[in-house]
Amino acid sequence: MRISIVGSGYVGLVSGVCLAMKGHKVICVDQKKDIVDGINAMKSPIYEPGLDAYLKQVIDSKRFIATTDLEYAVMHSEVSIVAVGTPFDGKKIDLSFIVRATRDIGSVLKKKDAYHVVCVKSTVVPSTTDTVVKNALEDASCKKAGEIGLAMNPEFLREGQAVSDFMNPDRIVIGTYDDRSYDTVKGIYEGHFSAPIIRVNLRTAEMIKYTANAFLATLISYSNEIAAICEAAGDIQVSDVMSGVALDKRLNPKIDNAHLNPEIIQYLKAGRGFGGSCFPKDVKALAAFGRDSGCVPEMLDATISINERQVTRIIQRIEAILGGLRGKRVVVLGLAFKPETDDIRESQAVKLVIELQKYDCIVICVDPVATRNAQSCLPASDKTIYTEDIETGLMDADIAVLMTPWEVFLNTPACIYKDRMKQPVIFDACGCLPKTNMTEEGINYNCIGFKAN
Ligand code: NAD
Repeated sequence: MRISIVGSGYVGLVSGVCLAMKGHKVICVDQKKDIVDGINAMKSPIYEPGLDAYLKQVIDSKRFIATTDLEYAVMHSEVSIVAVGTPFDGKKIDLSFIVRATRDIGSVLKKKDAYHVVCVKSTVVPSTTDTVVKNALEDASCKKAGEIGLAMNPEFLREGQAVSDFMNPDRIVIGTYDDRSYDTVKGIYEGHFSAPIIRVNLRTAEMIKYTANAFLATLISYSNEIAAICEAAGDIQVSDVMSGVALDKRLNPKIDNAHLNPEIIQYLKAGRGFGGSCFPKDVKALAAFGRDSGCVPEMLDATISINERQVTRIIQRIEAILGGLRGKRVVVLGLAFKPETDDIRESQAVKLVIELQKYDCIVICVDPVATRNAQSCLPASDKTIYTEDIETGLMDADIAVLMTPWEVFLNTPACIYKDRMKQPVIFDACGCLPKTNMTEEGINYNCIGFKAN
């Protein structure tokens, strides 16, 4: 099938490259020329494991190109997938990128005779596709939905594992306006992917995506609320509490007497809270949508507020451990919102750095791939230093705070922490460092969800 994808960021580019790997002919569109030039030069503008190799393969096979020319892309494809950003504007979802992209596609469709389907892949609140998108398309094309196909096909990939998630999805959700749109979008996946295809209406497809993200975010905030209670009460180790909970066979079934350890139990883990380009904005957008629809989204509100308190709680802990922060040399281990990505959007680590800057600390930011992105968004300060190397970062530090559990940090021997730092003090905001090794080495190890009485 010939597919155009509008928006070539994390979702658009990964989807485009993976669909070309499956044999489709894909044209990725982006408004930014530097992104397009980079892609065509086989340099992915984002860090995503496995993406560069696939990108080279699909460009070499001539099944994939990128362009800024939307008209060319729409004219030379049967389906346009919309994968532009849908940020939160402080009150509700910001649909301006969606409106512009669909209006631009509609203007091209005015000149196109052949049937064409517009398929929204961006995360949008229920009713967006059948009102905002449909209206923009109909106005710009002077055609009616039905003459133009309309679909909503949410994306569930996770950054850091985006390529393998896209190639091996758990489910493919297709919401459509009519049968003809469904048959076209189904053709993208059927025979290429083994996951079940779930056919629903447009609004249900939109809601499935939000509900899935909000559920995972809620588990994280639930774990962090339990962590706060453990710390307040004293002498309760939240990681042990959650491990005990996660052995329940309804969460962690056994086969042949061995636990399956499904990934969901990773979300029952206290830490620095969730970040990234999806969970924070999606929970907020769903709460706002619920409120607009006449509901009081109490659990979603709590999920957000618990998460937003998390950085303050980390600051309070490290301030108490050091007996004050002013002038201290604090190493922040990790800037990306999670390992295996360079994405720093809504990163709790970046928020921590901003708070530490207010305390007049010397902040050493360490991340193997995200320092450039972080540097471009963090306030410039001669007291904020960036390095990709943990050993350099730890030099003469008063405390190291683990914010992103990159393997390289977890695998750094305890003796390196001890030898490099001025005083070997660690605050593990992810609960991931090997506590026993650390304490045996004489390190003052502290973590989220535990305080001695
Ligand atoms: P992104 O910011 O990485 O990429 C969006 C791209 O669209 C940018 O490169 C931008 O230049 C381009 N763009 C914007 N308007 C355009 C236009 N009119 N024409 C051409 N290009 C245009 O965003 P993303 O992380 O890929 O997210 C896209 C959507 O997918 C969002 O709705 C997001 O919630 C959803 N989503 C994201 C993820 C994720 O892990 N990032 C996962 C699932 C769903």
